[in-house]
Amino acid sequence: MSDAPRFETAAIRTQAPITAEREHSVPLFLTSSFRFDDAEHARALFTEEVSGNIYSRYSNPNTDEFVHKLCLLEGGDDGIATATGMAAVFTALAARLASGDHVVASRALFGSTHQILTRILPKWGVTFDYVDGPDTDAWQAAVRPNTKMLFVETPSNPGLELIDLAWLGAFARERAIDLVVDNCFATPYLQRPLDFGATAVVHSATKFIDGQGRVLGGAIVGSKAFVADCRFFARHTGPAMSAFNAWVLSKSLETLAVRMDRHCQNALAVAQHFEGHASLESVLYPFLPSHPQYALARAQMSQGGGVVVFVVKGGLAAGQRVLNAVTLCSHSPNLGDTRTIVTHPASTTHSKLTAAERAAVGISDGLIRVSVGLEHVSDIIADLSKALNAALS
Ligand SMILES: *Cc1c(COP(=O)(O)O)cnc(C)c1O
Repeated sequence: MSDAPRFETAAIRTQAPITAEREHSVPLFLTSSFRFDDAEHARALFTEEVSGNIYSRYSNPNTDEFVHKLCLLEGGDDGIATATGMAAVFTALAARLASGDHVVASRALFGSTHQILTRILPKWGVTFDYVDGPDTDAWQAAVRPNTKMLFVETPSNPGLELIDLAWLGAFARERAIDLVVDNCFATPYLQRPLDFGATAVVHSATKFIDGQGRVLGGAIVGSKAFVADCRFFARHTGPAMSAFNAWVLSKSLETLAVRMDRHCQNALAVAQHFEGHASLESVLYPFLPSHPQYALARAQMSQGGGVVVFVVKGGLAAGQRVLNAVTLCSHSPNLGDTRTIVTHPASTTHSKLTAAERAAVGISDGLIRVSVGLEHVSDIIADLSKALNAALS
């Protein structure tokens, strides 16, 4: 057995160097810049002959600690922290792609990632094609000589579509194309895409990594070469995570394993309880045997995650009745919080798409995303029962 600390231990015992105060818990370094010992030290820091902090847009002890810990948890060689999940997604794409390059992405992507691919990168001559993520033939057909990156989200938000990471990782490696995985829904506790051959993982740390709905944050973790490009891009364009958010998120990682265990346990119980409910056309959850990719979920995830999808009979109107009837659960756009949160994408986050466009990415009008929290599962189930019965009336 290796001497490397196990997941929970690495998450708790990875710590920035202790200061002269001999603190037990990591202090917060709210400083925009750092002092040089002398002119020679300043020169050597800037030429990177010695390592050390210069300015918090480049690095800070709190962001370094958070990133170092996340690298251990994801199994990545290097990483950077960013202000939001979208800053991580944009940095990964913009740092690695140039005019004339092509991206192949799974269609079921987070809305803002879709906007970057369709409305922002084309301004700089970067083109893309979408494929149905689970369709391996479609990946083969879509790759061109100028394809430089494959981008996927698994499980996807909100449709809970899975991508076969072992297959796609090998496919990308054979062709020397970057594979970037948005690992936001699973977190490294449930799934480690780098182990399957991904080049880099991007995170919205705002979700399960913080897990308490407090701060925004993001990260990129992956190979040294990939992260070196991202670090150069971020250092000069400025999407840095604040020291305060890094301090919060490093603390959050200490409890990620116990929180995810309970999120997954509660989510599975909710999914099992409501499968077959009279108000529902279907319940989707990766660890329900009825999920179309159940076998894949069992193969690449250790548990099913904290998000359950309900498809309510009666479309938009019935979906809205459910949202108006919850009292314990929060009606809010976030996810991955201690609090159970219900969201109706068709009338909110994805309302600008046509019903046909929504259907193509698995978002029907009756789809409700339930981010199952850490309240007592009986209370969560009681509140959702009341709301789903309201949809029947
Ligand atoms: C929320 C989310 C993002 C964006 O993260 P922010 O921190 O809100 O910028 C990206 N990907 C997925 C899958 C998300 O759920």
